[in-house]
Amino acid sequence: MIIQRVVLNSRPGKNGVPVAENFRLEQSTIADTLQAGQVRVKTLYLSVDPYMRCRMNEDTGSDYLRPWQLAEVADGGGVGVVEESKHSNLGKGDFVTSFTWPWQTVAILDGNLLQKLVPQLVNGRLSYFLGAAGITGLTALLGIREKGHVAVGANQTMVVSGAAGACGSLAGQIGRLEGCSRVVGIAGTDEKCSILVQEMGFDAAINYKKGDVAKQLRELCPDGVDVYFDNVGGDISDTVISQMNQNSHIVLCGQISQYNKDVPYPPPLSPDIEKIQKERNITRERFLVLNYMDKQETSVLQLCQWIQEGKLKVRETVVEGLANIGAAFQSMMNGGNIGKQIVSVSK
Ligand code: NAP
Repeated sequence: MIIQRVVLNSRPGKNGVPVAENFRLEQSTIADTLQAGQVRVKTLYLSVDPYMRCRMNEDTGSDYLRPWQLAEVADGGGVGVVEESKHSNLGKGDFVTSFTWPWQTVAILDGNLLQKLVPQLVNGRLSYFLGAAGITGLTALLGIREKGHVAVGANQTMVVSGAAGACGSLAGQIGRLEGCSRVVGIAGTDEKCSILVQEMGFDAAINYKKGDVAKQLRELCPDGVDVYFDNVGGDISDTVISQMNQNSHIVLCGQISQYNKDVPYPPPLSPDIEKIQKERNITRERFLVLNYMDKQETSVLQLCQWIQEGKLKVRETVVEGLANIGAAFQSMMNGGNIGKQIVSVSK
């Protein structure tokens, strides 16, 4: 059977900026018949995520991420529908997902590596299983629960960087649901800031590309910052950490501002910011959602319940067509998305 797939065409280099041309669409073939245990799936949605920047390097610098190989098909989070099955638990028409879904229109996969989905949990919005009801939502929820030390009635102020992105937009809302009394976002455009406040219930949002971030933060967080959900690192994080309270907590989710630089993860703080962190006893522990997968099932149910109740507002930026996945990745790394960046492959 003839299929379309996307392979890694070139590497941006550890210090380079990734571009759409690092990926290439090509025609390929898959077998016409299935082996026992296999299923043939049609791809519906693919996820592009910041961690993929590491996979574009020859060495990802991490033990849990494999580098993509040149001229080989790329992979990541995906959702699709079973077209044919030789697996006892999966049948035609079942919706399934995997973290290692190949970037191709149709694929033959090992049924044991797929998770069956219940579309009703997300009111039929299957792409949510890659975002708010998938790894992104789990990252926001478990990051806050495991590292945020949020407590109902504690009158805490939370600041979120990368706030209009996939994790950030959920983290601010979950911070509120878990008990924070004030939530302030930091994002890269006025439109994003306005969505955070008007749609997602943030108390305020700061456009970090305009004006004095430190001054605005002081005004918007008059009692200091108790919890910082950090997606970006760099100068923005230095500014926030400088205004954090004694015994406060950083949820070290990601450091996207450093991903095109050859630095260790997590990047060390500058000496003056590290001094503040130590003097104020601010926790900054590495957080990796994959370490908490024993909590996946109950946490996804919690996220789906909030989505159904309208307590968790979900935004997606959907790009149509497998051919555009490289452009979608480039755009997301440059802040072109609001909420989760999804590629729809069905059309
Ligand atoms: P995302 O936020 O949807 O996309 C990245 C956003 O970061 C962009 O929309 C952009 O928005 C902002 N950004 C890009 N470059 C920036 C810069 N130099 N300075 C400030 N902001 C910048 O991506 P995501 O999926 O939610 O991921 C967010 C973070 O979480 C990433 O660092 C990712 O690696 C991390 N993550 C961690 C885990 C974990 O287990 N720890 C799991 C998933 C994701 P602006 O317009 O605001 O610049």
